[in-house]
Amino acid sequence: MAELKIKKYGERVLRKKASAVFEITEDIKKLAADMLETMYAAHGVGLAAPQVGVSLELCVIDVSQDQKSPLVMINPKIISGEDKVFAEEGCLSLPGFYGNVKRFDKIIAEYTDLKDKKKEIKAQGFLAKAVQHEIDHLNAKIFIDFLPEWKRKVIEKEIKRKKKMGDW
Ligand SMILES: [Zn+2]
Repeated sequence: MAELKIKKYGERVLRKKASAVFEITEDIKKLAADMLETMYAAHGVGLAAPQVGVSLELCVIDVSQDQKSPLVMINPKIISGEDKVFAEEGCLSLPGFYGNVKRFDKIIAEYTDLKDKKKEIKAQGFLAKAVQHEIDHLNAKIFIDFLPEWKRKVIEKEIKRKKKMGDW
């Protein structure tokens, strides 16, 4: 396994819609393993392939961070959702920034696992949020897109400042 470099906000791959995975190859399995290693090293709870520069519909999630039963979701989709609530979230591609995002509290999602089996997951609370956040990445969306415009502007300005200082 190898730790991968996490792409930061502003890199174009994060704004590109990811392509579906057609076959679970050895490369895909290695990518998933490397993404898990990268996510745990960064103390994250979720990571999507575009965040490591790969524009494919694959994401990994482990809200417990205990590395016992990580979710590897290939071609995931939200089938249904209910009870929208606000909660604070962050993103490994936007280190140091947080914001309140309104998302479904309960969802049902479907995906393919690494054994090429179709799966369905019912999730609630933090896990439901994480699944929605990661699937957003596959659709080129980032959590700050959902913040009020003034707040997004403040964050973008701060990132520009960091970039100038070589801190981004
Ligand atoms: Zn993210």
